[in-house]
Amino acid sequence: MSGLRYDGRKNDELRPVEIIPDYIMHPAGSVLISMGNTKVICTASVEEKTAAHLKGTGKGWVTAEYGMLPGSTSSRKQRERKGKIDGRSQEIQRLIGRALRSVVDMDSMGERSVWIDCDVIQADGGTRTASITGAYVAMVLAFRKLVNEGVLDSMPVKGCISAVSVGIIDGEVRLDLPYEEDSRAGVDMNIVMNEKGEYVEIQGTAEDGAFSGEELARMLEYAKKGCEELMAAQKEVLEGC
Ligand code: UDP
Repeated sequence: MSGLRYDGRKNDELRPVEIIPDYIMHPAGSVLISMGNTKVICTASVEEKTAAHLKGTGKGWVTAEYGMLPGSTSSRKQRERKGKIDGRSQEIQRLIGRALRSVVDMDSMGERSVWIDCDVIQADGGTRTASITGAYVAMVLAFRKLVNEGVLDSMPVKGCISAVSVGIIDGEVRLDLPYEEDSRAGVDMNIVMNEKGEYVEIQGTAEDGAFSGEELARMLEYAKKGCEELMAAQKEVLEGC
């Protein structure tokens, strides 16, 4: 086994997590989530119109967009213009949307949409997983507002989700990779879990070589620990979720 990582963490330790609710005044729900140096603003805005394919069905929709600000990365990242979203952002925003929809009862939210916007203001690895963990809180805040205003009778959110990265660096399984580790990881995995300890999504790739079943089991074990700790942080902000 290992010594400490370059930032002093143990292999199964998360970076410091902070979730600041109501960070932006206009959307129904918002947070600033920090996981170490990765910082993402997540907002949840309500639109009184469902997705085109659900019109007339009584069902609502939850969808997500993701972007990185030009100054969020070590060399300036060009702004994405409308219609020119790169493949990585497309993949990430679809992941965020799918993850959130896994815990929402679309039948009970009426014909409206919740737009989740995840804007990375500082990137240091794990921006997609921080986005999911933060967006969940922003979404719950938005739905709570609709319930408090009497627009909805009850909360359509049926469970809790969080997400974290794991990987193999220098032959060691590690939780919550910063860029320094992510950029040289032999295996890089993003895991979304719910409060029952079930998997909502697993994205895992061996970037260099391959990984064993034993290593996979260790990665899943670390991810479970990380997701549970993140759910505890979400619960603290939401006073239950
Ligand atoms: N990154 C970057 N510029 C980019 C894409 C990524 O600097 O255009 C950095 C950033 O720190 C990011 C990390 O590389 O967090 C890992 O990127 P990846 O695509 O694996 O996504 P993430 O781990 O952020 O979900």
